[in-house]
Amino acid sequence: MKEGILFSLHVLWQLPQAVAGAALYLWYAPGAGRVRRVGSVRAVFNRRFPGGVSLWPFVFLDREDPQELAHEIGHTVQSLRWGWLYLPVVGLTSVFHLLCRRRGLFWSRHSDYYSVWPENEADRLGRVRRG
Ligand SMILES: [Zn+2]
Repeated sequence: MKEGILFSLHVLWQLPQAVAGAALYLWYAPGAGRVRRVGSVRAVFNRRFPGGVSLWPFVFLDREDPQELAHEIGHTVQSLRWGWLYLPVVGLTSVFHLLCRRRGLFWSRHSDYYSVWPENEADRLGRVRRG
């Protein structure tokens, strides 16, 4: 009962990403190589998915890589912290950085993708140690 109430509060707090994640889940789970539960998160590994994204309570990855999974789990902690602001703050910052880096704007194409916020924080929260 208590867990059900807590889960409902988490859904309300993170509703935009939960809705977006549920939509992606319906699309990517059926053809997934694997769907795995990691704590309260459902991780979907589907080669058709372009990269990785965390939309609590779902994580989507193109491959089953423990380091990338831990990174995305770190983003789920950010989701819990930011609530409804997760997508506009963390999501948009992440997409902006990714697109700029690809075009060599503000960041070099060869720069470390995980060295800037929110990626470095997701690594820290997911306890990822890179190279
Ligand atoms: Zn990330």
